[in-house]
Amino acid sequence: MHALQHFVLVGAPASGKGTQARFLAETYHLESLSTGALLRHEIDRETELGLRASSYMERAMLVPDEIVNGIVRSWIGSHLEASWLLDGYPRTVAQAETLESNLKALGTQVDVVVWLDVSRELIEARMAKRRECTQCGHTTRNGEETCPVCHAPMRKRSDDNAAAFALRWRDYETLTEPVVRFYQQQGLVVHIPVTQEGEPEDVSRRIASALKAYAESKN
Ligand code: AMP
Repeated sequence: MHALQHFVLVGAPASGKGTQARFLAETYHLESLSTGALLRHEIDRETELGLRASSYMERAMLVPDEIVNGIVRSWIGSHLEASWLLDGYPRTVAQAETLESNLKALGTQVDVVVWLDVSRELIEARMAKRRECTQCGHTTRNGEETCPVCHAPMRKRSDDNAAAFALRWRDYETLTEPVVRFYQQQGLVVHIPVTQEGEPEDVSRRIASALKAYAESKN
């Protein structure tokens, strides 16, 4: 897998993207940037960036491209020697084009795009049971009331209600699926369809074997 240095992970809202991002980072020794996690962190710290982002995120909208592009550009600039994973970016074709030109200027590129393609029906069934720890941020999948890690109370993620999900799904279909097509035209997409409930580890195994086949096909 020497050739694969720069990974992008694309997935629908609540598709289990964060879990698979951690798997990819650990398995392939990648530095990772989750734009969603970074923005939530800025909101918690009440920074200027957080204040700007929260007005969009509270309404289940995407944060404007120029804000997110700036974050990612400077993160990449401070990880020039690293192998990395972008989790949740690019989410629009404009972001993908900006990323491409920023990387080109650095003499590099995206090597592979993992598309976690989970069906809407499956995600809606899952979402009803998702919880996030109010203290440490640990997430669970079975409606737990107490955090298994730090024992603090759990809450539903604020953007996990049905109306917000419908908005986020619409953005995913209209804005983010075109990003997948953008990368498919470049032959960079590893497609992982998920239509039945299973363990996250099974999905991770499928990703690993698909990546192995992909890397071999590029050699
Ligand atoms: P995530 O944790 O990836 O689901 O992201 C949570 C929220 O952060 C999204 O619903 C957006 O409001 C915002 N966000 C994260 N990444 C991006 C991005 N690449 N472009 C625009 N907004 C983003």
